Amino acid sequence: MDRIQMTAKLKEKLPTKRFEHSIGVEYTAGTMAFMYGVDYEKALIAGLLHDCAKYVPNDKKIQKCKKRGISVSECEYHNPELLHAKLSAIYAKEKYGVTDEEILSAIECHTTGKPEMSALDKIIYIADYIEPNRNILPDMDIIRKEAYSDLDRCLLHILKNCILYLQKKGSIVDPITQATYEYYNKELS
Ligand code: FE
Ligand code: FE
Repeated sequence: MDRIQMTAKLKEKLPTKRFEHSIGVEYTAGTMAFMYGVDYEKALIAGLLHDCAKYVPNDKKIQKCKKRGISVSECEYHNPELLHAKLSAIYAKEKYGVTDEEILSAIECHTTGKPEMSALDKIIYIADYIEPNRNILPDMDIIRKEAYSDLDRCLLHILKNCILYLQKKGSIVDPITQATYEYYNKELS
């Protein structure tokens, strides 16, 4: 399946707003890939498909992951929404024919991040946060500039703001997000 066919299929699976977000992530990731010398075709596909399983009902998300032998953590049980990243990687492979492991990895870690991310992983994580259709979040202007000047600084900034936001709301922070923050905080200091 080529990217045009993927786009047509995705359009049928997502509500208009989420589809527009996906296109926003696709092209934002593409421009960042130019900037950082990353394969832009991979960035475009990963950006396009990163949320492809977002609208699978939550109980089904758990079921479908378990059926495929994917581990579901305590945190994911309570917040099945988090599983959309893992499940989107699975769907990208099964339903859109993506076999490239770098693309699948970037989709899989786009919500929580992970320590030792590849440049493509970081690009998708960041593009998801800064794409033009996004609501303006705290520090957005600074974060958008950092995205095109310092990938790690930008990543850390987003992780920090996400953790602060979740703590403020009284929501649990996924341990992987916390671990990712600590890893890059140490890297940069
Ligand atoms: Fe997502
Ligand atoms: Fe997204």
